Amino acid sequence: MGNIRSTMMTTPLLVPAMLERAGRIFPTGAVVSRLADRSLHRTTYRDVYRRAKALAEGLQSLGLRRGDRVGTLMWNHYAHLEAYFGIPMAGGVLHTLNLRLAPADIAYIVNHAKDRFLIVDDVLLPLLAKFRGEVKLDRVIVVGIGKEPVPAGDIAYEDFLAKASGELAPLVADENEPVSMCYTSGTTGRPKGVVYSHRAIVLHTLATALVDGTGIGHRDTAMPVVPMFHVNAWGIPFTATMIGSNLVMPGPFLDAESLLDLLDRERVTFTAGVPTLWLGVVQKLKEFPNRWTFAPNLRIISGGAAAPESMYRDLESFGVRCFQGWGMTETTPVGSTTLIKRSMPEADVSGDARYQVLTKQGLPLPFIDIRIVNDTGEAPWDGVATGELQLRGPWVAAGYHDNQEGDDKWTADGWFATGDVATVDAEGYIQITDRAKDLIKSGGEWISSVALEGALMDHPAVKEAAVIAIAHPKWQERPLAAVVLKPGATATPTDLNEHLRPRFATWSLPDAYVFIAEIPKTSVGKFQKTKLREMYKDWDWDKAGPRVV
Ligand code: ADP
Repeated sequence: MGNIRSTMMTTPLLVPAMLERAGRIFPTGAVVSRLADRSLHRTTYRDVYRRAKALAEGLQSLGLRRGDRVGTLMWNHYAHLEAYFGIPMAGGVLHTLNLRLAPADIAYIVNHAKDRFLIVDDVLLPLLAKFRGEVKLDRVIVVGIGKEPVPAGDIAYEDFLAKASGELAPLVADENEPVSMCYTSGTTGRPKGVVYSHRAIVLHTLATALVDGTGIGHRDTAMPVVPMFHVNAWGIPFTATMIGSNLVMPGPFLDAESLLDLLDRERVTFTAGVPTLWLGVVQKLKEFPNRWTFAPNLRIISGGAAAPESMYRDLESFGVRCFQGWGMTETTPVGSTTLIKRSMPEADVSGDARYQVLTKQGLPLPFIDIRIVNDTGEAPWDGVATGELQLRGPWVAAGYHDNQEGDDKWTADGWFATGDVATVDAEGYIQITDRAKDLIKSGGEWISSVALEGALMDHPAVKEAAVIAIAHPKWQERPLAAVVLKPGATATPTDLNEHLRPRFATWSLPDAYVFIAEIPKTSVGKFQKTKLREMYKDWDWDKAGPRVV
């Protein structure tokens, strides 16, 4: 080491500092939430800061000890934001519960995490009632976003805050201590818990705030549509607060019209959510092209699943820029974003080159290392060689919470194996071709379900399309496309394959189509391929009629 030491302070990176800054420096910054009666609740960072401290004090008065888990069962709104900071300020661990899971799964997660306290929206009390008998909670605190009565024995959130003296000792902690946790949705096997440290959240927040990350600045009005109960709402509540931007939160109303109303009325400049939301928004905009106007610099981050090229083109035709974020619960979640490099001026303007970049999953954020690994070892960055995407970095999980089964998601040399199959090109752009378990293996070749879905959804008659593998006696697996047509639109399997033909090898076109009313979705609005596979598990190629190709 030589005889030199750093002369710098070793101030720990702690989450509460973000709200402290917003409360002091951007006290009038607006936090707008839609409540259960659709009315808009308006508050400021000054109040959120004061109330988060009051929540922390209240939790400590209930006996919260350092590291105790506090569950939240809430929509996106001001009180959830207060919990995002108040629980850490008290020294607790914020554990966001996915309210769209089956009650038995929520109970499993509460028990596995050993949640001691729960903060719940009054409108979600009926959901809590379905699993309350299966969990052991010391106290339940009820937030009134509706008009539901507080059950006997539970605590009314507002009364709880009103009792606070305003005196709260600042959190003294090591930056590697736990601050929050999330469970994976458990699409395969039991949900698994990821425990985030202060350091991971702070570094993730700083990196995603970069102009080339989300680019959220204090002049923005950010609207996280991605739920605060799923992967930290992509970190946006933290980023927006740290930077002091205004926040708009949609509460329980996530339909396209409600979102469009908020985007317009609140002059939102930044929003984020899964592609199914934005596909719905595009459809509404086409139906009512003159009904909504947007802030001139509105941009959307779409993530969580791949989106068809037409979605980016359509949004831009309405003056809205859209780019992607890629991530996972295990990566806090953002690992990459699709900025367009200055060395690609052709992609800056509208045209094919632009959408070729936008449909990729982007460049890794600073401090995120990536590699592609396949049977032959580490694959070159040539945009062709596919393999599993593996990552490491300061906001990538190193293991799961209390995981007795063990896991093969971490390699011997310390990388996290995502289960996503991808290529990386010479510029460093990641392109996810599929989740490993969704790839279709036909006659020894791999077919990307994601590529087929994207291209199908570019067809003007198609609202949604999901492609799955069906076991095949000769080819091992062949693609079946489940398609939802737009209202009043028609398209035959042959029409759709003709549409795909210019973009795909003939052998990779779907052999069969089913037209259905809706693609089953996961708790966070992604296509639920497991359910779809279940629906067609008895598919009989002999009875299915002639192949489409
Ligand atoms: P789950 O989808 O299992 O509920 P996560 O929310 O953690 O869990 O999702 C992570 C997965 O979502 C990634 O492994 C990847 O397959 C997919 N994903 C996330 N962002 C994107 C994106 N921009 N494009 C394509 N796939 C994405």
